[in-house]
Amino acid sequence: MPRPSSPRLLLLLPTTTYRTAAFVEAARRLGVALTVASDEPSTFESSQPAGLLTLDFAHLDRAAEQAAVFAREHPIAGVVGVDDDTAVLAAVIVERLSAAGELKGNPVTAALAARDKHRQRVLLAEHGVPAPAFELHALEEDPAGLAHRVRYPCVLKPLRLSASRGVMRADDGAGFVSAFGRLKAILEQPDVAACGEPARHFLVEDFVPGVEVALEGLVADGCLRVLALFDKPDPLDGPFFEETIYVTPSRLPERAERAIAACAQAAVTALGIREGPVHAELRHNDRGAWLIELAARPIGGRCGAVLRFETREGGNAKRETLSLEEVVIRHALGMPLTALEREQRAAGVMMIPVPGTGGGVLREVRGVAEARAVPLVEDVAITAHRGQTLVPWPEGSRYPGFIFARGETPEAVEAALRMAHRRLQFVTG
Ligand code: ADP
Repeated sequence: MPRPSSPRLLLLLPTTTYRTAAFVEAARRLGVALTVASDEPSTFESSQPAGLLTLDFAHLDRAAEQAAVFAREHPIAGVVGVDDDTAVLAAVIVERLSAAGELKGNPVTAALAARDKHRQRVLLAEHGVPAPAFELHALEEDPAGLAHRVRYPCVLKPLRLSASRGVMRADDGAGFVSAFGRLKAILEQPDVAACGEPARHFLVEDFVPGVEVALEGLVADGCLRVLALFDKPDPLDGPFFEETIYVTPSRLPERAERAIAACAQAAVTALGIREGPVHAELRHNDRGAWLIELAARPIGGRCGAVLRFETREGGNAKRETLSLEEVVIRHALGMPLTALEREQRAAGVMMIPVPGTGGGVLREVRGVAEARAVPLVEDVAITAHRGQTLVPWPEGSRYPGFIFARGETPEAVEAALRMAHRRLQFVTG
């Protein structure tokens, strides 16, 4: 139970997120007072006036005003968003509540730049951060004409979507025209078209070859601290970019890791990010590190569960284990995070691919117990439910589940994830 004097955290949760349980548990462990804000009223709100809050997520200024009214009665000491949209709202609320900079947060312009792939590319280019060459195009343009002018191989991508939805590689004119048609159909889907102008444009970028890593970091006063670097051992060469395995620590040479961290720091500076979690995808090849994308939020989906940290407070030798969510909350509330390090063991997660090439309606998942029984596997979480339509990439963006493993070496963790995956059978029809 939080003490009456506990600092209050405002947690912004979109209605569809896997993150709720992990953040609520983290807040409970830290003993902070928690207010969960979402954009749909909860039937429990009247019984927990300080614990639940409805904000108009679609109208940022109105949501900030609602938060300000709430904060007059229940002072807020920190604000956390968990995805790209709530990260922007968190920045707007912090700006509104914290005229003198008492609350940790990002400038709204930085959160917006992290969410918009075009704005991000422009800022990276202006600051000389190595990133793919890009062009912005409109959906009304003639794809056949464009296909003659662009350089190959190239990547077509939407400006606002995430989880590689709509991201496609094209190697020639025919591939470009076909990818364009698929991207247009995705951008015209009602949930995507609702975001307005950004859904009427797309980027065409040079394809950057090389190994890919994911970097999880925490920014304090503009300085990036790398919390974990994940190798992605399956090649991500397209034509679509569904993720599979993440394993940390990275097996890249130290020089490459340093170049990656420096590139990520340069991107943080270029976008103007000052505080809080970042999640970045980078590539590394014989020309060095390249920034593919940086988001001002923690890693998505269930994947955060793969990270565990140890910290030691002040002179006290007692080590404490923290989840990623605890780290994020502590930072937002200005609580100490001394000598923070990821645990010694290797850890990994597999985002389970949508089976087959056509997806289908999920009837049954077999072999879950057998997959869980693989040594080093800690959990197999099937998040898709029976009857759910599994949509493969590039139209889809939801993995049917996640496998987690921990062990002495990244090799052993990777092997365990692959073995567990082989034991799973998704029956679709
Ligand atoms: P999202 O935010 O939807 O994940 P990204 O821009 O991060 O979109 O792209 C998703 C994935 O596509 C990246 O992780 C990377 O594997 C691949 N990708 C995107 N752009 C490029 C590029 N220019 N060159 C090579 N790979 C790319």
